[in-house]
Amino acid sequence: TVFYSGMPQIARRPPWEGGFSWQRDELGNPWLAVTCQGTGASVWWPNKDHQSDEPDSMLLSVTVPKGLMNISNGRLCAQTDLPGNWTRFDWFISYPINNYNVTLNVGKYAHWRDYYIAGDTLTLDYYVMPYNLDKAKKQFQQVKPMMAAFEKYFGKFPFPRDGFKLVESWHLGMEHQTAVAYGNHYLQGYRGRASSPVGLKFDFIIIHETAHEWWGNSVTSEDIADMWIHESFGAYAEAVYVEELFGYEQALQYINGKKSNVQNDRPIIGVYGVHRRGSGDMYDKGQLVLNTLRHVIADDDLWWAIVKGLAEDFKHSIVTAEQIFAYINQKTGEDYGYFFEQYFKNTNIPELEITVTQHRDSVTAQYRWRAEAPDFRMPVKVTTAKDKFVFIYPTNTSQTTRLEGVSPGEFRVAEDLFYIDVNLQRAYQYLR
Ligand SMILES: [Zn+2]
Repeated sequence: TVFYSGMPQIARRPPWEGGFSWQRDELGNPWLAVTCQGTGASVWWPNKDHQSDEPDSMLLSVTVPKGLMNISNGRLCAQTDLPGNWTRFDWFISYPINNYNVTLNVGKYAHWRDYYIAGDTLTLDYYVMPYNLDKAKKQFQQVKPMMAAFEKYFGKFPFPRDGFKLVESWHLGMEHQTAVAYGNHYLQGYRGRASSPVGLKFDFIIIHETAHEWWGNSVTSEDIADMWIHESFGAYAEAVYVEELFGYEQALQYINGKKSNVQNDRPIIGVYGVHRRGSGDMYDKGQLVLNTLRHVIADDDLWWAIVKGLAEDFKHSIVTAEQIFAYINQKTGEDYGYFFEQYFKNTNIPELEITVTQHRDSVTAQYRWRAEAPDFRMPVKVTTAKDKFVFIYPTNTSQTTRLEGVSPGEFRVAEDLFYIDVNLQRAYQYLR
């Protein structure tokens, strides 16, 4: 047994910088939260503070002043009144859990329970500020269609014994396992903002943070350098949700709406072994890159089988980027090493150099890739006839293809499907 005590560190900028937040709600009641992803759970309890290992279960006993509640992960198995006007809440987590997901939420909450029934029954417990109860009951109606979408594409909710909870928080939100912190003010998008119109048709925090139940909480990266496994798939899950509810075209608009947010400042994969995550591009660029991979594979049945397979075959386990990459190569029978190298381990996106030349009645395209990955050879779709997109197979040496029935002005590269830079020259050669 390890005994420890003390004053926990105060979070300066939750949820991004970790520690405790001692707040008050609008009625003046105490409202306490803890967030520690990145900073590490060792800011408040002793543990092996590394993503490569997880306790297989946990019991959290939290004593709070009578009249307040504590909501943690897992199931509430006991609530005991203690002498001196204290109440103890015992929560049991019956699955492995990342230590940064272990949490407390102390406050004066209103609670209601609902059920998501799809074959079996998943409890949905909601804890919100009493003065937000009506808004919450309306906003949280998004949970069931989201669960249906995620279960369709990623497999069953990974922690059914522990149930699913949304817990209103003073900070923006965090993917605390089975007790997702919610602080989006009951607004659509990201506190009312989005990069595309469809982004305002759903509550970003509900969708994104819950996606982490599959990507991050169930499938966990061994090193924070591979935090993209949580965030790129988490961001891609938003697009999956959009596609399921609003259709493929809306999903493409959602994904491509993120382009202006991408920095291309550092690689998505960070530095291994020194607790250094990759670029913040792991969110929006990650979403664009996974959309690109889908269209490179160009077989949706296979793509969705791979996505679901990753979630199910690595369920409740710790993975590396190389395991994810090897899995995709194995399932497709291809070697996408060049793709992973360029998009995850390099900073820049590949540039397609292409010159479309009209010479009398004949039109030709000459093309090649400019990329850091030495053998970059991603197939990409272009118009070889008007409005008809087909694959070309550029490499890092120049090739020429004859185009039928498309003028240089009509020529297009499918940039909504492939996240690339295009350096397109149009040339007209006339014999005098
Ligand atoms: Zn996230």
